[in-house]
Amino acid sequence: MGLSPAFFSTPLLRGDGREARNLLVYIHVPFCRRKCNYCAFHSQPFDDVHFAWYMKTLMAEIDLWGRRLKSPRIGTVYFGGGTPSLIPPFQLQLIMDALRRNFTFTSGMEITLEANPDSANDKAYFQHLLSMGINRLSIGFQSLDDRNLETLGRPHSARQAAETFYMAREAGFGNISVDLIWGLPRQKPKDWNNELKAVVKLKPEHVSCYGLSIEPGTVFGKRADEGVDLEIPSDDDQARMFIYGAEFLEAYGYIQYEISNFARMGFISRHNQGYWDRMDYLGLGPSAVSTLGSRRFTNPSYLDEYDAAVRGGYIGEDFEELTDEIRAQELVMLTLRTSKGLKLSDYRELTGKELVKEKNALINALYRNGLIRMSGGFLRLTKNGMLVSNSILQSLVFD
Ligand code: SF4
Repeated sequence: MGLSPAFFSTPLLRGDGREARNLLVYIHVPFCRRKCNYCAFHSQPFDDVHFAWYMKTLMAEIDLWGRRLKSPRIGTVYFGGGTPSLIPPFQLQLIMDALRRNFTFTSGMEITLEANPDSANDKAYFQHLLSMGINRLSIGFQSLDDRNLETLGRPHSARQAAETFYMAREAGFGNISVDLIWGLPRQKPKDWNNELKAVVKLKPEHVSCYGLSIEPGTVFGKRADEGVDLEIPSDDDQARMFIYGAEFLEAYGYIQYEISNFARMGFISRHNQGYWDRMDYLGLGPSAVSTLGSRRFTNPSYLDEYDAAVRGGYIGEDFEELTDEIRAQELVMLTLRTSKGLKLSDYRELTGKELVKEKNALINALYRNGLIRMSGGFLRLTKNGMLVSNSILQSLVFD
């Protein structure tokens, strides 16, 4: 599908005609030390040759989008992966310089880098990050229990994870998030609670807690296909981990602002909140996804195809047009993940319909079962509702 030149030369507009807020920029870094047993993200082992190729193409892609979009104002940058902390500081500096040349940085921007304890483990490294403007870290702990880390196939220990955290803090990072996974093989609710106790002692500003999901093609997925019992906790135990875990974190001052995300006051992830608020985002790097106005496209996953698309100048040309129906589905699916919830008037504006009337029987049933509540013109999931969010969202959107 071709893009009209006007698409790239007009100011960014949302599909509904409103001028876009500052753009969110995501940079995908597709390299890892080795593949973790649960991971379905696009990544490959790090080596100098492929990394040099990636860098060259990424720099060209940044230039290309800077020209096409006429140096748009950006509000956040997020280096995700993969393992962005495998990028040496000198090369990261080159990327940051290219971003500054091609985009308009706004004041107080949030610039996040995902760091893994196996690669980000010295204070000077963190000082370098701060000096180039990276002001938020997301550290991939996943667990603070060595047995769990081994089960997950993580290339670091719990001690290394804590040391990475302390080093980043000592270097001057005042906004650190840590990622954890719950519902692990053989994990009991009390084990999860112990992990959370260890985490709150570190006092991170933000905690992300994801339930383990067994994805096809991963080591866990293959074992499950072979009939191996992964000893995943029962549904009841998983429910306890989710609900009590959230209550525990809230007791320590972390507000659950999205199903999997908790933050101290003033430290929500502005980048991720932007996704849930359906802001425009530009994804750079192989397999990165973008949504500009009502158009969505995904970069090729493999380096050779990604490189060819950037060099050929046709990156982003194969886009999907987001219809009002898709946008309404996304509005429901994204906003109901957040504690703010779905503003019912936004749904009305987009569709001309009243969701509560349209789905009256379902919403009443969810309300009676304590899974949903409504106030001030917003529809929200309760904690129990968040626990079964997938099936609720599925029924609200597709049934
Ligand atoms: S470090 Fe992250 S991206 Fe890399 S394999 Fe592990 S989970 Fe996947």
